[in-house]
Amino acid sequence: MNIPMVDLKGQYESLKSEIDSALLQALSETRFILGPNVQAFDQEAADYLGVKHAISCASGTDALHLALLAAGIKAGDEIITTAFTFIATGEAIRYIGAVPVFVDIDARSLNLDPALVRAAITDKTRAILPVHLFGQAADMDELQDLADEFDLLVIEDCAQSFGSRYRGKMTGSLGCVSAFSFFPSKNLGCYGDGGMIATDDDEIAAQIKLLRNHGSSQQYHHDVIGYNSRLDELQAVILRIKLKYIDEYNAKRLAVAQVYNERLAQSGFETPQIPDDRDHSFHQYTLLCDERDALREVIIAEGVSCAVYYPIPLHRQRAFDDSDAPELPVTENTAARCLSLPIYPEMTEHQIETVCDAVLKR
Ligand SMILES: *Cc1c(COP(=O)(O)O)cnc(C)c1O
Repeated sequence: MNIPMVDLKGQYESLKSEIDSALLQALSETRFILGPNVQAFDQEAADYLGVKHAISCASGTDALHLALLAAGIKAGDEIITTAFTFIATGEAIRYIGAVPVFVDIDARSLNLDPALVRAAITDKTRAILPVHLFGQAADMDELQDLADEFDLLVIEDCAQSFGSRYRGKMTGSLGCVSAFSFFPSKNLGCYGDGGMIATDDDEIAAQIKLLRNHGSSQQYHHDVIGYNSRLDELQAVILRIKLKYIDEYNAKRLAVAQVYNERLAQSGFETPQIPDDRDHSFHQYTLLCDERDALREVIIAEGVSCAVYYPIPLHRQRAFDDSDAPELPVTENTAARCLSLPIYPEMTEHQIETVCDAVLKR
């Protein structure tokens, strides 16, 4: 492959001296668990997002799990969410014994369709869990209005949307609590697993701080049964450095997407929308096309990577009892037609052109 989906090496090379010296410094300090860099990162991330509390943890999956627990979600509660997402969104709901209620998406945004969310609300519904898919914010005002009307919580899955804005506000600052992932390929990625919860709610924040550290705020005193889900100090070192560049990285991703949209407008494939009331951070750039698998072959033959996110929606996964799956026609149609192209901040003009040429071969 000449052009990968992401180029983690290129980004590391550009930050190498800064990262290497900060890592060596942290190694020499040997404060590896909940050390000074984790504390500093939590504060810097909260400031960046404009929220009162950011609490880092071990992964995005854990962030969702802890967010749901701290928000008081209980076994049997129904959580309305999308099936067109990574498995972790649904897994976290199931960890608690809550019930994911999968609702169809909007065909253009690929995010939860608020009208269908309304139709799915029952007296067991406790929360709406939108995913800001591929870096584009979901319809948060419409979802929050529904939540207000039916006394529900909005819990955001921001794993793909660090630095994305919705009507001027950061994703992750909109719902009652939100979950982020720092998996290496995410827009803000560390060099291993990492995640974070953001909230303005003091009680939820206090609960999450307990939960991530064995239910303990004072050593060997345990108030609740918690977990071992702390962000690693070395990952915090890397994230603190990368956080300084996230706006620049996201702007570069958007610029790549804009060139793709222009060049591929004539391709006959459906290119992603770039709405003007939200800053799309293009975690993925995803085309929709009828003969997806044929296009994929052509692109790969040209030495360009591409990927299908996601081939099997959650409601069709065996883990979610696919025998009783609801009909989600837009989700299924999208899963059959989606193809994501390489996108990362370090892409050169030549690489962008090569990708476009490969797509236009079809
Ligand atoms: C990556 C991702 C997660 C899980 O994050 P991990 O850090 O890999 O546990 C959850 N939800 C979505 C939408 C994701 O893309």
